[in-house]
Amino acid sequence: MIFHVLTLFPEMIRDAASHSILGRAAKAGLIDVRAINIRDFAINKHGQVDDAPYGGGAGMVMMAPPIYDAYVHAKKNAAIENPRVIFLSPQGSVLTQAKAQQLSAEKEIILVCGHYEGPDERIIEEIVTEEISVGDYVLTGGEPAALVLIDAVSRLIPGVLGKDESHQNESFSHENLLEHPHYTRPPVFRGREVPEILLSGHHGKIEEWRREKSVERTKTKRPDLRRAD
Ligand code: SAM
Repeated sequence: MIFHVLTLFPEMIRDAASHSILGRAAKAGLIDVRAINIRDFAINKHGQVDDAPYGGGAGMVMMAPPIYDAYVHAKKNAAIENPRVIFLSPQGSVLTQAKAQQLSAEKEIILVCGHYEGPDERIIEEIVTEEISVGDYVLTGGEPAALVLIDAVSRLIPGVLGKDESHQNESFSHENLLEHPHYTRPPVFRGREVPEILLSGHHGKIEEWRREKSVERTKTKRPDLRRAD
């Protein structure tokens, strides 16, 4: 899957996407994260990409033309005709596991990262197909949000997780339940013992226990998930 990321800070994207599971997936050709520097499409030789807001007020607004030209560049290099264009925005619908699952079926998407006060509204009207938020709080820029989306989507692409890192029983993947707790060696840590059932070797009983723990912790930690079920 190809992610074209339109950003003023391409190094943030390139660096974060080059480590661990994402880095491995890129090397294996399963994902391709392409950061496109909006400043390469600045309106003048001073590299201008933002300006004061019409109507006055604090902060700078990202100008529409550089973002549009960066978008045209991404589209020219896209393998499919009309990739979805997602603007990362606190005003978008909040990213969920179901949404990540849906996006993981795409071949290619374009992500637009805002900064400062955000982009001129007209660029959103012109190119954006949907707005996605990573939560009800405001970040300084869309880059961390784009990375959250890239990470959540990439790990659902077949082959990205090794068989030891399966997402099958994870939180939100199964009946909207949180995952059961995990334990590894040592068997006793500061007086806290591993639940005996996990040492029993009885796979059926272990599965039953894990399911009970999933239901129990979903009720305690995220009762809203069960209600939404
Ligand atoms: N003035 C904007 C508002 O109140 O809606 C916030 C602008 S914010 C400081 C700058 C950029 O960060 C946004 O354009 C957006 O791309 C990104 N951003 C901030 N919070 C975000 C969130 N919760 N989810 C996704 N992107 C976010």
